Amino acid sequence: MGLYKHILLAADFTEYGDEVANKVKELAETNQAQLSIVHVIDNLPITDAVYGPIIPFDGDLTMQLMDAAKKRLSKIADKLGIDKNNQFLEIGSPKFEIVRVAEENNVDLIVVGSHGRHGLALLLGSTANGVLHHASCDVLAVRMPND
Ligand code: AMP
Repeated sequence: MGLYKHILLAADFTEYGDEVANKVKELAETNQAQLSIVHVIDNLPITDAVYGPIIPFDGDLTMQLMDAAKKRLSKIADKLGIDKNNQFLEIGSPKFEIVRVAEENNVDLIVVGSHGRHGLALLLGSTANGVLHHASCDVLAVRMPND
C-alpha cells in the first residue's frame, strides 16, 4: 500500500486533460490506490432563477447535456480502467461538488489541472483554487502549459 488509498481525478474535458489523466494513472498504480473520476456540469443557466420566466427550464436539454457528458466521462474512465461505480457526474458548482464527492467517498487525494477553462491567465485556476481551499484531503495541481 502506498501513501494514498483513493485518488479522485477532476476532469473538465479540456485539451490538456490527457496529461493529467496519464499522471493520475501512474500515481494510482504506484500507490496501488483506488481511482475515481468526477466531472461537474457547471450550474446550468437554464436552471438559474435570475433568468426568471424568460428562459423556461428545459428538461430535454439538461438530459442531452448529461448524456453527452456521461459519454465523455466514460470514455476517459475506460482508458484509465475506472469502473462505473467510480465515475461521478454531478451538476452544480465544480469546486463544491468535487470536494463533496471526495468527502463522501473517503478520497485522500484530489488531482486537478492547475488551470482549465477558468484560469488560463492565472497561476491557479478558480476551480483548482476553490478545491484547494475547501478540501480536507491533499490536493495535487498538475501544472498545465501556459500558452
Ligand atoms: P479551472 O480552475 O476551472 O481553470 O480548472 C482547473 C482544473 O479544475 C481542471 O484542470 C480540472 O481538473 C478541474 N475542473 C475545472 N472544472 C471542472 C469541472 N466542471 N468538472 C471537473 N473538474 C473540473
